[in-house]
Amino acid sequence: MAKKKVATRLEREHMSKVASLGCLVCQRPANVHHIRPVGLGMGMRSSHYQVVPLCREHHQGQFSIHNCKEQFEAMYGTEAELLQRTLKEIKSLEQVNDFFNLKGENNG
Ligand SMILES: [Zn+2]
Ligand SMILES: [Zn+2]
Repeated sequence: MAKKKVATRLEREHMSKVASLGCLVCQRPANVHHIRPVGLGMGMRSSHYQVVPLCREHHQGQFSIHNCKEQFEAMYGTEAELLQRTLKEIKSLEQVNDFFNLKGENNG
């Protein structure tokens, strides 16, 4: 029933920035995890801005946010807290990029 929301260009840019931060837990290369907003109405879709960077292990591994959410949140913070940290890091990253006018990332 729920249609997959297509990410706009800005949302995709945001998601790739988030992913480039690296895993919030271990700093390894990360993918984005869409957090589930709590207390929002049923029609409310999770936004592509509400994403946090997590490596494969912390995203979908044995003790990941998907498979072990309660433990994960107890150890590393709730999804809301992780999102706040992510947005803070993005903000400082953007200031740095502005300053140096850098583009792209090092894929070593
Ligand atoms: Zn996920
Ligand atoms: Zn990790």
